[in-house]
Amino acid sequence: MDPTLARGADPGPLLDSQVLVTGGAGFIGSHLVDALAPVADVHVLDDCSTGRQTAVHGDATLTVGDITDHETLADAVAGTDYVFHLAAISSVPGAMADPPRALDVNVSATADLLDLATDAGARVVFASSAAVYGDPSSVPIGETDAKDPREPYGVSKLAGDHLVRGYADWKDLDTVALRLFNVYGPGQTGGVVPSFLEQVQRGEPLVVHGDGTQTRDFVHVDDVVRAMVAAARTDATGESFNVGTGDVTSIHELATVVRDAAPVTVDVVHDDPRPADVPESQADTTKARRDLEFEARTTVEDGVHALVERAIGPA
Ligand code: NAD
Repeated sequence: MDPTLARGADPGPLLDSQVLVTGGAGFIGSHLVDALAPVADVHVLDDCSTGRQTAVHGDATLTVGDITDHETLADAVAGTDYVFHLAAISSVPGAMADPPRALDVNVSATADLLDLATDAGARVVFASSAAVYGDPSSVPIGETDAKDPREPYGVSKLAGDHLVRGYADWKDLDTVALRLFNVYGPGQTGGVVPSFLEQVQRGEPLVVHGDGTQTRDFVHVDDVVRAMVAAARTDATGESFNVGTGDVTSIHELATVVRDAAPVTVDVVHDDPRPADVPESQADTTKARRDLEFEARTTVEDGVHALVERAIGPA
């Protein structure tokens, strides 16, 4: 749960507001809903394709439905003050498995949502992704750097990101796009951190794809929730912001952190590289610090140690 709201800090304009969280049964969305449900009237729209009904906070109302269904989406957006738009085909492999569906969900439904939010006069905070940059020519990556995604997930997220910013110009809609880097935390199911946790829980070797020198900017989900709350409050609308720590961790280093945090001894082994795996990723966080007053607080060491301890106990 977001500690700033959990500790009773001023929720600002979110207090008693009508909030829609699409994808609120998913990994990031359920943490966001946990933070918002005590202060706002929160409605979740999620088809539970990867999310879980049981992850949704008891004070929020859940509609199990598909954002590509216009009537369902229109009912959900009507009367809202804030829409946090997280529902998506949320992984590179998921989008590669069915690119037309990824475009329907991540792009067409986003355009529909933006039209509906314009009618409702709602602010839209969009979960964009570092995948919009593709394989960056240099790091850290700034918001204005080249965007050249070469796989359907990144392409779809870039289209959504452009649409969200475009509606701010075309329709004078309050929008903020947050380009999330590698988010991790409790409740995550896909990705390298959960894979390592499962492997260490089973006492199996940690499997690193490729040589492990590829770097990522791992940002804790509690920090991402704080960034989303900041996006709901900012005057800097019509903008996109990187959300990361600004630090990098190689996959090999991550495996070492998991191994050292675990009470069991496991080896680190290497497997084939994954398709579309970029060698480097690191956020330039200057703009988010300046305009959102957002800075990540959780280091990878602290975040991963807490996850390992939660999963299997202290080392
Ligand atoms: P997730 O898969 O846990 O959450 C996505 C949610 O959307 C799920 O609950 C799923 O059931 C729901 N959903 C999918 N298709 C839907 C549809 N057609 N209608 C209604 N609901 C639908 O993924 P997450 O990691 O929580 O990601 C949330 C958002 O953040 C996504 O937009 C993702 O692209 C973005 N993002 C995530 C990361 C990350 O590292 N996890 C990084 C960058 C961006």
